[in-house]
Amino acid sequence: MSVVRAGVKYVFRFDEGNAGMVALLGGKGANLAEMKMLGLPVPNGFIISTEACRAYMKEGSKWLDVLWPKIIEHMHYLEHISGKIFGGSENPLLVSVRSGAPVSMPGMMDTILNLGLNDKTVKALADNSKDLRFAYDCYRRFIQMFANVVLDIELDAFEDALHEVKQRLDVTYDYQIPAEELQEMVSKFKGIVKEKVGKPFPQDPWVQLKMAIEAVFKSWNNKRAVTYRKIANIPDDLGTAVTVMEMVFGNLGEDCGTGVLFTRNPSTGEKKLFGEFLINAQGEDVVAGIRTPQPISLLKEVNLELYSELARVAELLEKHFRDMQDIEFTVERGKLYILQTRSGKRTAKAAVKVAADMVNEGIIDEQTAVTRVTPKEIEQLLHRQVDPSVQLCPIANGIAASPGAAVGKVVFDVDEAEERGKKGEPIILVRPETTPEDIHGLSRAVGLLTSRGGQTSHAALVARSLGIPCIVGCEAISIDMIDERFTVGEHVVNKDTVITIDGTSGNIYLGEAPLVEPSLHEKYLHEFLKMADKFARLQVWANSDTPEEARQARELGAKGIGLCRTEHMFREADCLLIMQQVIIAERKEDRVDALDKLVKLQKGDFMEIFKVMSGLPVIVRLLDPPLNEFLPKEHEVTKKLDLLRAEGKGESDEAKKLELLLKRAEALKESNPMLGFRGCRVGVLYPEIYEAQVKAIAEAACELVKQGIDVNVKIMVPLVATGQEMCMLRANIEKVVAETAGFFGMNLHCKIGTMIELPRAAIVADEIAEYADFFSFGTNDLTQTTLGVSRDDAEGRFLAAYVQLGIFMDDPFRTIDRKGVGTLMKIAVEGGRGVKKDLELGICGEHGGDPSSIAFCNSVGLDYVSCSSMRIPVARLSAAHASLGLLN
Ligand code: PEP
Ligand code: MG
Repeated sequence: MSVVRAGVKYVFRFDEGNAGMVALLGGKGANLAEMKMLGLPVPNGFIISTEACRAYMKEGSKWLDVLWPKIIEHMHYLEHISGKIFGGSENPLLVSVRSGAPVSMPGMMDTILNLGLNDKTVKALADNSKDLRFAYDCYRRFIQMFANVVLDIELDAFEDALHEVKQRLDVTYDYQIPAEELQEMVSKFKGIVKEKVGKPFPQDPWVQLKMAIEAVFKSWNNKRAVTYRKIANIPDDLGTAVTVMEMVFGNLGEDCGTGVLFTRNPSTGEKKLFGEFLINAQGEDVVAGIRTPQPISLLKEVNLELYSELARVAELLEKHFRDMQDIEFTVERGKLYILQTRSGKRTAKAAVKVAADMVNEGIIDEQTAVTRVTPKEIEQLLHRQVDPSVQLCPIANGIAASPGAAVGKVVFDVDEAEERGKKGEPIILVRPETTPEDIHGLSRAVGLLTSRGGQTSHAALVARSLGIPCIVGCEAISIDMIDERFTVGEHVVNKDTVITIDGTSGNIYLGEAPLVEPSLHEKYLHEFLKMADKFARLQVWANSDTPEEARQARELGAKGIGLCRTEHMFREADCLLIMQQVIIAERKEDRVDALDKLVKLQKGDFMEIFKVMSGLPVIVRLLDPPLNEFLPKEHEVTKKLDLLRAEGKGESDEAKKLELLLKRAEALKESNPMLGFRGCRVGVLYPEIYEAQVKAIAEAACELVKQGIDVNVKIMVPLVATGQEMCMLRANIEKVVAETAGFFGMNLHCKIGTMIELPRAAIVADEIAEYADFFSFGTNDLTQTTLGVSRDDAEGRFLAAYVQLGIFMDDPFRTIDRKGVGTLMKIAVEGGRGVKKDLELGICGEHGGDPSSIAFCNSVGLDYVSCSSMRIPVARLSAAHASLGLLN
């Protein structure tokens, strides 16, 4: 059965199309048609539709019966309006044949110029142009292009021949080769074709045309194009259009030329014509780099009239297409022709500036501007990057945990990192993993590399909150902490060796890699993100644990703090020591004493954070990690104790304290601490710990309210699994808040909520909601417990392989596993809101900064996402894109 539908039109003249017909005419063809309609100087031509290509493929690479006669008809039309004859021995018509898919597709066949030349027409071209050299130069270029893109012959043989002639003649440029030599070269090129394909170069222009069109159809399914479509998620069944256009020549003399032009600077976004041109040249000379083109600004001096005409066309096209344009032009004997226009590719920096500027200039509306920049581009703008234009070979690759690149000297000891970092030395701290105890060194490093742990490990969380580049779970490196070196493959990296880590890609390089600084003028980013906020339904809050982080989060546009992990406040050494006293206290009184000291310290931090966030909500989470995380490492205590004993100080107070520490560590030891005595379980069994924290929070809030500061604090309980836990803890929290506020002679309204981070909590969310004013999804733990994979180990081990094997679509710690974790979230949303219609819902797991997960949170009706401060700009744009249906 034929696929031809009655009355289907497969070939369109330029004046029969418009820009809305991209799907049928391809981007190139549709825009040429539109320009024709605008009255711009476009050469004449026609377009063979994508539908014709699809039919060709469907028929098993066979021409539709109706197609070729239509093409012949359109060629005759071209002959008619140009007054030239295709294959004619007097005034030959030459055409270009170009592919043009509905979406831009590098990897497909692009252009063949000068089609229609043969041994006969070349002579006519020489006569007409009165330029033998020009004619034969066109012919040899045509043979070369045709051989390459239609006959699939490698270019090497042609280039070698060209090179040999230039060497023999001792000339640098193609245009210095005289006509006779070019005639010789044409013979040689035809010989190469015959040798490679066993047939002579086709002399019949109609055969040339048919072969070229077929090559474009076939290029849709060449390997490069198929691979590109897979990566860019482009459907395989679109097909490509073919544009056939009358040739115009930029290489007919000094009053001719060719060039490319951007309506704005594609690197910076500056509103100024940008591009280059070459006098007396044909299109591919500009791209091929054979001669050095001149900047377009110089055209003003060479030919002011032409420059003004180009500027007028540029402005018209930009306004008409409402986007920055990338325009190809040719000048033949003083007359300007526009050969192509399309939206110009641009850097992330230019994308933001152009979008914001075009709104100000009234060219586009805000919604369009917001769609013109991707979250990925925003990410690139915020961090230093390893220069992408330089080819480098990484020595290893780990999990990219905190974006940006850093160069520094490898140091293994945390204290040494602190000391040298303080003096301004750039240090990359390399550890198997990190714990809260390491924070002093971590905060002084420029980068962090661990061989264990995943996206949500301590190292990753802290690095993100400090904004330093970090790679975790790099199992390929084997760390020797005693000799202070790590090995990877044949490389041994000793202490003090300079390395570069790229926390965006996870790559590790030996030595100092060239870096590119983030370069966006903040003003544009702020302006742009403010626009994006107008379209977002989800708010973006921040995970911030210190006043500095809160300040940064607010500056970056956070509308609240969704997670303040109180344990991260124990970073300072004095706080950690007090916390250790709390843990080793065997009697409640001793614990309460130590806790009193802690209250004072935490209260100061809370006051600072509440002040910074004045007028915005701050969710403070009560203590969560297993207690033994705050104790020093056992082998280190044993080592110190052994030393004291060796010095005869085994009975000293210090030795006794160390013994006590060891005893407590032993008592608290668990096989699976992350599933053990942590979170609200500690709060239930040692109520004095949570009471002390709540007291610190309430005192801080009351003091500030007294000073007239607008405090909106909420208290959050971690790792709740049952309604009963929440019921008990809520009662206690309310009591302490009321008592503390009473002491200040006031009433403090403080919402009390919980994290949903265990599958059971999600399932019984209705029960928990009875006692909670809000839920915040802790998707780090929820992923760990739903999938039964350790958040600290799995990513460096089997998860990457699972993603590669297609068992998981993505790393579930980076992007929410919608089928599993996502379903539990939906259950919890329904359960919670079923009980309390206005229950406030958010997410504070690391997924809160991931664009795809943000789209999911939007779809299930959360109110906000909370993420580390450096991810806020990306999250803001993602939230807008999610509302606009651009992300799902
Ligand atoms: C979580 O589990 O998602 C969470 C935010 O808490 P944490 O990472 O501190 O366990
Ligand atoms: Mg958690």
